[in-house]
Amino acid sequence: MSFDLKEIVASRLGENYELHHRYINRTLVAAQRVIGFDKVYARAEGAYLYDMDNNAYLDFLSGYSVFNIGRNHPVVKQAIRDILDLDLPNMVQMDCSLLSGLLAEALVKRTPAHLDAVFFCNSGTEAMEGALKFARAATGKKRVISLASAFHGLSLGSLSLMGCDSFTEGFGPLMDEWDTRIPLDDIAALERELSKGDVAAFVIEPVQGKGCNYPKTDFFEKAQQLCRKYGTLLVSDEVQCGLGRTGRMFGFEHWNLEPDIITLAKTLSGGYVPCGAIITRRDIYQKTFSRMDRCVVHSTTFGRNNLAMACGLAALEVIDNEQLVDRSARMGALLMERIDDLRRKHSFIKEVRGKGLIIGIEFHEPSEFKLKMAWKLLHKVDKVLFAQMVVTQMLSRHRILTQVAGHAMDVVKILPPLIIGEGEVEMFVEALDSVLTECRKFPGPMWELGNNFVRAALSSRRSTEPRPVTTAQS
Ligand code: PLP
Repeated sequence: MSFDLKEIVASRLGENYELHHRYINRTLVAAQRVIGFDKVYARAEGAYLYDMDNNAYLDFLSGYSVFNIGRNHPVVKQAIRDILDLDLPNMVQMDCSLLSGLLAEALVKRTPAHLDAVFFCNSGTEAMEGALKFARAATGKKRVISLASAFHGLSLGSLSLMGCDSFTEGFGPLMDEWDTRIPLDDIAALERELSKGDVAAFVIEPVQGKGCNYPKTDFFEKAQQLCRKYGTLLVSDEVQCGLGRTGRMFGFEHWNLEPDIITLAKTLSGGYVPCGAIITRRDIYQKTFSRMDRCVVHSTTFGRNNLAMACGLAALEVIDNEQLVDRSARMGALLMERIDDLRRKHSFIKEVRGKGLIIGIEFHEPSEFKLKMAWKLLHKVDKVLFAQMVVTQMLSRHRILTQVAGHAMDVVKILPPLIIGEGEVEMFVEALDSVLTECRKFPGPMWELGNNFVRAALSSRRSTEPRPVTTAQS
């Protein structure tokens, strides 16, 4: 056998950015270079990534919340080995495989009693697309309401719910009747829309990925009442918030909600294999699969594949055994408290918000006079540049990976793996303190870095490429 993957990786590691520039997304390569994210990671374990010189990087990004149980978890690795050893029949399609049945059972055990029917797919956006179809089929209604700043995925249906214009630009028209968005906490706006009687679903993220916002009022509870009143299904997108991220098994639990449909993906299979799921009530489910000739009316070829199902079973076991939901709540509270303490010292920090280990640190104009000037200058060009400066310095000086929380928001977002301990909390807080202390030196190297971003932003606006200054995804 001439194929030797280990040899290929050993001999070619380091060519990453060159290959991507040549064959994949060269705009992303350019952006990563500008913000200093062009690292070559060679290995990963738990909460850490390691570069080719074996330097450790603390991963407070978790692949956008894929690695809640940490990277390369031994239990998930063993499940993959076992699947390969078992030589099971996979994706026969016209059968019912054991493992998908078992994973559905394991998920239903963890959800409130009314959510008892599962559909498997491969990604978050796919789960959202399915949820919208289920809602339409169950209600006979067409429209969907989502929230300002919402992010539910980037395929056309999910994109129609998008509350962030920079993702929709150039891809329209989207599905016109779908795209009604209302501001978070605006219950009157929601009722105005729902009362038209044609809304199939109201879709929420318990904590929004963009900006880490959640209601400041009893908006979610009232929204649920209104949904029931007007015959609209409440969909909780748990793709990012689910499975412990917010310090509860599901994000909706913070408000004691009873959503009609929830969606999962990202961390569901522990980080190796794509896996998504829709969990809903049986009566809703059956409205889609309503007759024998509609038994596969919604389906996807790889949806119930053995590798994903086995990894899902293993990942759920790890979440329980390692008590990661509770850990997420404890470490999240500690992190937010410690970051909030920095506010007294650094007037840049406006607010620290989040639940569990989805946390946003929002910045605003500092109170010191000369820093105000520097701030204003930077923000003339772009609203996220300060947050990007912080993210870049956290990586280059302190080897901690974070992200900007969204376009047009000066928010740094952290999504640590749920396995972190007090040591990692302290590392992060000390690093942030040090970066913000550097930011108070004006003129100084931090603001010089900001200038570089400004130059890169301006030159890319003159070219046809998008702005290369933000790592804001979901
Ligand atoms: N929903 C939410 C809340 C997300 O954060 C994301 C991705 O970040 C998605 C849906 C889309 O998931 P995917 O990237 O797997 O399509």
